[in-house]
Amino acid sequence: MIKEFKKKRTVNLKQFAKDISDQLKNKTDNPSLESKIILSHFLEIDIKDLYLFDNIEIDIDKINSVYEAIELRLKDKPLEYIIGYKPFRFLKLKVNEDVLIPRNETEEIIDIIKRFFPRAKTFLDIGTGSGAIALSIAREIENSFCVATDISERALKIAKENAKENNLENKVVFELADLFPLEKEKFDVIVSNPPYIDINNTRLSVISEEIYFEPKIALFAENKGLYFYEKILFKAKDYLFLDGGLIFEVGFNQAKEVVEIGESNNFSCFSLKDLNGIDRFVVCRRKMI
Ligand code: GLN
Repeated sequence: MIKEFKKKRTVNLKQFAKDISDQLKNKTDNPSLESKIILSHFLEIDIKDLYLFDNIEIDIDKINSVYEAIELRLKDKPLEYIIGYKPFRFLKLKVNEDVLIPRNETEEIIDIIKRFFPRAKTFLDIGTGSGAIALSIAREIENSFCVATDISERALKIAKENAKENNLENKVVFELADLFPLEKEKFDVIVSNPPYIDINNTRLSVISEEIYFEPKIALFAENKGLYFYEKILFKAKDYLFLDGGLIFEVGFNQAKEVVEIGESNNFSCFSLKDLNGIDRFVVCRRKMI
């Protein structure tokens, strides 16, 4: 029998983490955490066990993947695309460059649903991307059912993999659609975190270099970034039960305008702040006439 011989090297992980952290310090606000995440992922060592031993033997292949990851990170590739996943509430979501990386603020949408629509069971998630919102609803809201649409076939592929990975396939139906599903059914709540960055924004580099890695179709919208709110609110009543409502995530400075769009389409709306104190969500209910 031929024994496969794997080349190894002895590494001091604490020192290795420190070296990586030093290299990343101008790239990220949290270089030491990112260095640990990279090491843990590529060396396949649990993050809490990283510093258990001073020196350990590691396959050269694994060490090389760490170096490749740092190189990509230094070229602004987001950490989540490098390691291939993003934790979101109770889920570990697979992500690649076909989907937007779910943001921490977006997690709050699930709390808003629980607070303002505690009895809601049927949901429509428009522009589901990685499936973050729909799958969290499925995971956390008992007896719920969700239809999740996206115009990107490639995004839906990732969303479906995430459903399977998290055993939520029978609670979410994914549909390739331009906003609303083909069949006109009614839902308790429509939720959406649509693309909302003004497509004519010329000062994007101010936002971040990293968003250039994300799908443009998930980020930019016409009409000062308001296009999708207008489209959705215009048609929403056909897809909502009488006491149903909508929850949107909105961009910085857009809450007031989205509230106005809702009001002019016969909804009563208000905005909510995210944990950073920014008006980030708009909740709309049908006006009772
Ligand atoms: N709804 C998804 C999310 O919240 C995708 C959003 C998008 O691609 N604009 O992450």
